Amino acid sequence: MRVERLNVGWVSGAAAIWRQGEDPDERIRFPVPAYLIETETERILVDTGLHPGACADGHAFYDGSPTMSLFSLELEQPLHEQVDVATITKIVLTHLHYDHAGGLSLLPATIPIVVQRREWEAGKDPAAIERNFFYPRDYVDAEREVILVDGDHDLLGDGSIELLLTPGHTPGHQSLRIGESLILGADVTHFASGLDDHRFPAFADDYDEQRRSAERLRALRESGARVIPGHDPNLLHPGSILR
Ligand SMILES: [Zn+2]
Repeated sequence: MRVERLNVGWVSGAAAIWRQGEDPDERIRFPVPAYLIETETERILVDTGLHPGACADGHAFYDGSPTMSLFSLELEQPLHEQVDVATITKIVLTHLHYDHAGGLSLLPATIPIVVQRREWEAGKDPAAIERNFFYPRDYVDAEREVILVDGDHDLLGDGSIELLLTPGHTPGHQSLRIGESLILGADVTHFASGLDDHRFPAFADDYDEQRRSAERLRALRESGARVIPGHDPNLLHPGSILR
């Protein structure tokens, strides 16, 4: 099994949005990753990065939401230009935020997505959409098959890849365990230090759940796993091949 990290773009803005307690004047710029997992029979994308339209003109793309004025987006390279999309067998969405589901509409509708049922239902609920800054145009596509899972889930039926329900950042956020020792934590914590200091972003669906999810990933790290955080600027080092 091979796991590659791809960088789709960048987010820049006030550091305190992304890590509580930062100096209000401090700025931060961090990557927007996606991942490609290759097995003998599957080529799986984990997340889809940003939509180019959101980077070119965030306000226009996102109906003028004031949220977007707090930070800016840059495109590195759209995902569909980085991978041969014709051979992708499924897409796992860790959650429905614009920097994870935004590139989905550029990928063929014949590729099914795998998402937690709790997340998908929140993505259709007006109050949850508003609370979580979801943009349904990122993920609503009548043509695409949606495979809903409930809780931890053996993705390929052979124990090699397990989806881990790690809610809090969003209602049905999920992480991935790949093999015995690689964890794609996604946005349980943006930064590696978050597993220890619990300095989460200034927004969340449920901080208590997020703390429990961070504790869960920390325990996996303590037992020897490598936990990849969601958006740590150090994420890009040392290399893009994680396994
Ligand atoms: Zn994110």
